[in-house]
Amino acid sequence: MSPSSTAVDPNLPPASLFIGGEWTEASGGATFSTENPATEETICEVASASADDVDRAVASANAALDGDWSKMSARERGLLMWRIADALEERIDEFAMVETLDNGKPIFESRYVDLPTAIEALRYFAGWSDKIHGDAFPVQGPFSMAYTRREPMGVVAAITPWNFPLIQAMWKIAAALACGNTVIHKPASYTALTALKFGELASAAGLPAGVLNVVPGGGSEVGGALVRHPGVAKVSFTGSTDVGKGIMREAAETVKRVTLELGGKSPNIVFADADLDQAVKGAYNGIFYGKGEVCAAGSRLFVERRVHDELLEKLVERTGRLQPGDPLHPKTRLGALVSKGQRESVLGYVGIGREEGAEVAHGGEPADVNGKGYFMQPTILTGVDNSMRVAQEEIFGPVLVTIPFDEADEAVEMANASIYGLAAGVWTRDIGKAHAVAAKVQAGTVWINQYNWYDSGASFGGYKQSGFGRELGRQALESYTETKTVFVGK
Ligand code: NAD
Repeated sequence: MSPSSTAVDPNLPPASLFIGGEWTEASGGATFSTENPATEETICEVASASADDVDRAVASANAALDGDWSKMSARERGLLMWRIADALEERIDEFAMVETLDNGKPIFESRYVDLPTAIEALRYFAGWSDKIHGDAFPVQGPFSMAYTRREPMGVVAAITPWNFPLIQAMWKIAAALACGNTVIHKPASYTALTALKFGELASAAGLPAGVLNVVPGGGSEVGGALVRHPGVAKVSFTGSTDVGKGIMREAAETVKRVTLELGGKSPNIVFADADLDQAVKGAYNGIFYGKGEVCAAGSRLFVERRVHDELLEKLVERTGRLQPGDPLHPKTRLGALVSKGQRESVLGYVGIGREEGAEVAHGGEPADVNGKGYFMQPTILTGVDNSMRVAQEEIFGPVLVTIPFDEADEAVEMANASIYGLAAGVWTRDIGKAHAVAAKVQAGTVWINQYNWYDSGASFGGYKQSGFGRELGRQALESYTETKTVFVGK
C-alpha cells in the first residue's frame, strides 16, 4: 500500500440507512458485510433495508416533494447542486479511497476518473436546472394560447450496479434533482458505501431532508419493492439485461416510467488503414480499463484480416506489461474483480471459450497478488467465431475476443449480430469509411479512433437489449419530467 493513500481516513458510514435526512436503523436491525475484494477482509457492516424501510423512504421522498425543495427556485436548486459538487470535491481523496476499497478498482481510476466524472455530472446538471421549460403556442378554438410546463415526475427510484458506483448514481441523481424530483437510491450491495456517504454529504451541504434517501439491501427485496411501489413515479435502472427485463415487467403493473441501462458486448472494429499503435492502445483500454467490468467494454475486437496478426502481437506485448496489483498503490492499473463469484464467472467463460475452440493468446488464469483477493490476468482469446458464447454473452471482466474480417460490410454485419447495442469503436484513417460504419452500427454510442470516452453533455444509452432511455446530455432531462399542456381561455 502506498503511504499517501493509507493516510486518508475513509470515514466509513454507520450501519444505517439514510432516510429523511438522517441515519436510521433498518427495521429489525438487519445488516450485511461488505468486503474488500483485494484483501477478502470485511470493511464494515451495511444496513439492509426491508419492504417496511422502503415504505418509510417513499413516504419521506413524497413529503419532501411538497416541502422546502418545491419552494426553492430552479436557480437556487442549481446553486445548491453546485455547492454539493464543491463539498464532494473537497473530500475527493476520501471518497476515491472508499470506492477503491469497496470495488477493487485502482485508486488511480477512482481518484482521477470516477470522482471527477461524478462531480462533473453534478455541475453539468446543476447548470440545466433553470433552463428546463415548456413552450407557448397558438391553438384553435376559444383559447388565446396554450403552453406546456415541464414538471418533475415525483419520486425517482435510482437502482445502480457495482462497477462505477458513484458515477452511475450521480448520472441519475443529478439529472433527477435538476428537474425537481426527489430520489430514493438503491445501490448495489457490493458497493453501497460511497452512496451512503454521499447521502450524508448532500444533506450536510443543504439538501432538504427526504430529497435524497439511500436504502441498500437485497436486489429483489429492496429494488423490487421500489419498482412495485405506487408512491414511486419513475425507476431509473442500470444493471444486467435479465434484471432489467424483470423490472420492465413489474413496472407495467403501475405503468411506471422506466429507463433501462443494461448490458453490452460492444464491437471495436479496426481497419487495416488505421494508426495501428493507436488502435492497439484503444483496444487495450477498451477491454482492460475498469477490469473489463464496464458495460460498454470493447469486448469483441474485429480486425481486418491482413493486419490481424500484427495487431495481435502488439496487443499481447502491451498486455504482458499489465500486472494486476494492490488497488491502493498509485501505479496499479488492474485491480481485483468485484467478488469471488464474479471472478469464478469470468474464469468460467475462459473455460467455455477453450471448449468452443478458442485459443488463449494471453492470460486466462487467476492472478496471485499477495496470496489474497479476486485478481485475474488480463486475457485475450483468439480463434473465435462471432457465434460462440464468448463472442455473444457479456463476460463483464478483462477478457477480449479477437475476430478477423475481410470487408467493411462483413465487420458491420458481425458487429450487429448481437442482442446488445450499447457502444462501438471504429479505427481507420478514412473518414468517409468511419462515418459510414458509425451510421450502420446499431449502438447508442460510437467512438471514432477512440474508445471508452464519456462526457456529461453527450447522451449515453443502448439500442436493442442494451436498454432504452438516455443518461447524460439534454436527452436525460426528457426522462425526468412530465409535460403538462395548459389551454388558456379567451
Ligand atoms: P444487476 O442487474 O445484478 O444489479 C443491478 C442493481 O439492481 C443492483 O442494485 C441490484 O441489487 C438490483 N437488483 C437486483 N435484482 C433486482 C430486482 N429483481 N428488482 C430490482 N432491482 C434489482 O447488475 P450488476 O451485476 O450490479 O451490474 C452489472 C451489470 O450492469 C452488467 O450487465 C452491466 O453491463 C450493467 N451495466 C450497464 C450500464 C449501462 O449504462 N448500460 C452501466 C453499468 C453496468
